[in-house]
Amino acid sequence: MNLYTKAVHAGDRKRPASGDNQAAWVPVTAPIHTATSFFYNDIDNLDKVFAKELPGQSYSRYGNPTNDALEELVTALEGGAGSLACCSGMAALHMAINVALIDRRRVILAPKLIYGATIGMLNKVFEPAGAETVWADFDDPSAVEAAIAEHRPGVILMETIANPLLRVPAMHRIAKMANAAGVPLVVDNTFATPLITRPLELGASMVVHSLTKYLSGHGDVLGGMVTASEEFLGPLRDLSRTVGFILGPFEAYLSMRGIKSFAVRMERQCSNARKVAEWLAAHPNVDRVHYPADPKHPDAENIAAIFAEGFYGAMVSFEVKGAGRPEIFHLMNSLKMVVPATSLGDVHTMMLYPAIASHRELAPKHRARLGIHDNLVRLSVGIEAVEDILADLDQALRS
Ligand SMILES: *Cc1c(COP(=O)(O)O)cnc(C)c1O
Repeated sequence: MNLYTKAVHAGDRKRPASGDNQAAWVPVTAPIHTATSFFYNDIDNLDKVFAKELPGQSYSRYGNPTNDALEELVTALEGGAGSLACCSGMAALHMAINVALIDRRRVILAPKLIYGATIGMLNKVFEPAGAETVWADFDDPSAVEAAIAEHRPGVILMETIANPLLRVPAMHRIAKMANAAGVPLVVDNTFATPLITRPLELGASMVVHSLTKYLSGHGDVLGGMVTASEEFLGPLRDLSRTVGFILGPFEAYLSMRGIKSFAVRMERQCSNARKVAEWLAAHPNVDRVHYPADPKHPDAENIAAIFAEGFYGAMVSFEVKGAGRPEIFHLMNSLKMVVPATSLGDVHTMMLYPAIASHRELAPKHRARLGIHDNLVRLSVGIEAVEDILADLDQALRS
């Protein structure tokens, strides 16, 4: 089935495994199950569920039917053997790295340019726990290959589209290297979504999402998801039963409701973003635009290999001519419709200033070395009429 169709149908209308007598009807959409424990007519069945001999529910830290439905939906979209819904994108990432490192060398290979909170987690959580991170330039596959040979990592971590310069590393080649070396590859696919690329099909072992962003898409739910190949699904579920970072059933319901329209929203967001990027490139007050549809994008070859045809994502970064921090503050304060706030992927267009937000923790010199200059702003393009987005950007750029 096509992804647009799966997004609408997968996970819904499941018949209870045991309830033949009640199975004459099922709700059309998956309900919110708030119960923390589950009851069986025969205690023998509960015993078998605890023993994992029978599928079923027992206690809500282990799972619940609303989460099951959402997990089935995301698995249908990303591929893989199954998924685990977590209470945030960071919790999902934490779970995936921990599961990869069970029985493996506690060395993580990660890109220098990666989501700020991920850098924080690697430095403040994994490093003190004895898992060292080796940082490499993932825009250069030969640097990744050399780092794998030199450091023999237990896990490789990467993002499909790296924030905020929207670089696209050669995931298809890095996955091959990881598989050849027997190292699990964990891909954060939050910026791309399964509409643009499905990392498990390219050889990744686990895919992580912040559901908070495009998949839920309405700025009203925090959540995460790990989708795993067969090898990692069991250990992921086992670890989850113990640590209990799982998503609540209300958030699972909201995420599922959001995902039904994610492909339609994302298609519109990508097409709006492309128009915004082209318009910005011709604007007299804009120096430079970073967008994957640009034929001169430094990763054009990777983009052609990895992305679905005609889709380039809905994030656009641009550099404002002659601007520093005060001018960018003025620009953001002048916006009338575009929302100057953190986060991304929502139905509304948002603008973020990496120097004070996602990359605030880096020293200004370090930021500049990574190419994140003080005149750089990041747009998450929404589903509004594109002329309204352009009109607001134009008046703010000229104010
Ligand atoms: C937001 C985000 C995360 C973290 O997700 P939360 O839901 O905020 O915990 C991880 N990776 C990327 C790329 C993100 O954009």
